[in-house]
Amino acid sequence: MTSVAPWRRPDLLLAGPAVTPDGLVPALVAVTGGKVSGVHNLSEETTFAGVPVHRLAGDEVLLPGLVDTHVHVNEPGRTHWEGFATATKAAAAGGVTTMVDMPLNSLPPTIDTASLELKRAAADGQCYVDIAFWGGAVPGNEPHRAALDGAGVRGFKCFLADSGVPEFPPLDRAGLRRAAAQIAELGSLLLVHAEDPDYLGEVAGQGGADYAAFLRSRPPRAETSAIEAVIEAARHTGVRAHILHVSSADAIELLAAARAEGLAITSETCPHYLALAAEEARDGATEFKCCPPIRERANAGRLWAGLRAGVIDYVVSDHSPCPPELKLPGTGDFAKAWGGIASLQLSLAVVWSYGRERGVQLADLARWMAAGPAELAGLACKGRVAVGCDADLVAFAPDASFLVEPAKLQHRHKLTPYAGRRLTGLVRRTWLRGREIFSSGHVAAVGPGGRLL
Ligand SMILES: [Zn+2]
Repeated sequence: MTSVAPWRRPDLLLAGPAVTPDGLVPALVAVTGGKVSGVHNLSEETTFAGVPVHRLAGDEVLLPGLVDTHVHVNEPGRTHWEGFATATKAAAAGGVTTMVDMPLNSLPPTIDTASLELKRAAADGQCYVDIAFWGGAVPGNEPHRAALDGAGVRGFKCFLADSGVPEFPPLDRAGLRRAAAQIAELGSLLLVHAEDPDYLGEVAGQGGADYAAFLRSRPPRAETSAIEAVIEAARHTGVRAHILHVSSADAIELLAAARAEGLAITSETCPHYLALAAEEARDGATEFKCCPPIRERANAGRLWAGLRAGVIDYVVSDHSPCPPELKLPGTGDFAKAWGGIASLQLSLAVVWSYGRERGVQLADLARWMAAGPAELAGLACKGRVAVGCDADLVAFAPDASFLVEPAKLQHRHKLTPYAGRRLTGLVRRTWLRGREIFSSGHVAAVGPGGRLL
């Protein structure tokens, strides 16, 4: 517990149980100039003359604002899929105060400094939360990667199989090794969508509407083979590598072995792989389609175990929406429907709802969904209720439940596999650098005050 600097009175004082790096403690959190300036033990005698104390409601706890490092905003170029204003409002409503935008599905993709500038210009003045950017590693952009790194991207994403959009082609094995060597030299981070095209098959039967056939077309071996290739590249280059959206629990053993070997490899999974199961994806229910796919319930149980054992490091949304017609509701064709699940606003409640029955604690959420992803993206002032960090805070009611009503989602498009589900854990208020940006179901009227990081 640290004292506030005596020469400046705080602007805001929040009292209640808070999830800090030391765990869940009764705290008086002081905010000065947008930063956490003190985390005092509530039992200590601490007074700040003239500064009103805002007490959390009896059923609320204070969480660090979440850091979601896997969001496809799609603007510019596919703004009709999602955009900075709508995505960041959804983030604020979901307790996410920092997002890192993926380099693909916007046009142009973020693969050189000119496209990064276009992206930043599109985001500027529209964001309700803070935002940073990943760059892309695609065939042919080697000459641009150093400048992109210098311009502030937090790392480089690549695919090994078809990305779903023609302007962001995959790297082959030689391209992966070269990218790993280059990114290691830059001291940056390599992010990999790990599916090996050699193991991806066709969706057969029932005009492609058969979920089981779709699942068979993207088997666990496609993921483990790709992860083996990344591990090999990391072993030979020393690159820091991150495996995106682990869907198959078969990956856990590989990731644990890589860690034991001392390789700098981290991984993430997503709320839908933990909460949803192939058994509940009806044929033609393309709102369940994402790549890699949602697998069987038993697989989800093993993912939870990998997460709780610390082998899988983070949980982030992979928010990847599209206009509902691209989900092909008429035919329900899994082969042709856009793959992506929109869940930015619901991630926290989904992970909490399905995790708490497995013994997950609020401190686990803070580590998997705030402090950990902040560290991954090199955002030292984010993701923790700690002195010196940005005062990005969430008043969260862990026992309050709500029904997912698509119309209440701030996402541009409301299609979601969570529609009609009752989730536990309600975001009541969100603060970004000490400023309230969401309260009682509404994005605050203060306007878009998010920064480009
Ligand atoms: Zn993605």
